[in-house]
Amino acid sequence: MQNLFTPWRYAYLSGARKGRGCLFCRARDAADDASLLVVRRGTHNFVILNRYPYNSGHLMIVPNRHIGSLARGRPEELHEMMSLARLCERALQAAYRMDGMNLGMNLGSSAGAGVLEHFHLHLVPRWAGDTNFMTVVGKTRVTPELLEDTYRKLHRLLAERRGGARKPRAPRRLREGRR
Ligand SMILES: [Zn+2]
Repeated sequence: MQNLFTPWRYAYLSGARKGRGCLFCRARDAADDASLLVVRRGTHNFVILNRYPYNSGHLMIVPNRHIGSLARGRPEELHEMMSLARLCERALQAAYRMDGMNLGMNLGSSAGAGVLEHFHLHLVPRWAGDTNFMTVVGKTRVTPELLEDTYRKLHRLLAERRGGARKPRAPRRLREGRR
């Protein structure tokens, strides 16, 4: 389990070293969602496909603000992150009929973070047997599907499912006012 979240970080590390700035800030500011693989935008976060997926459908949920720790996250940002995770869970289930899903964060270089200063939540669909396969092939990534196909599929599913990033309704007594 220790190495579960490490295989995808190398490409991002090398990308960051080329001096192109923060990958996630570039994706946040991009006009063209498809070219940077942004599949959904919320109010405080966005959802992006991992260009170097551990499995098909590997997503990341990223806060719009360039912050490096959970401690710096505002309640509304963290709340929406989980709402989006729920939305993604449904979309991944519909698209891939996954058996399970890993959710994970690498905070800090010791934990294996690829993009240190801009934290993000990984969502990786899992199927029975894929762990055994990964053990055999080591760092080789399992990518049985083209990235463009994954993008098309998840972009459509996440667009259809409005409501995940919406504010929760206030409790009844607050909506109706105090008597
Ligand atoms: Zn950033």
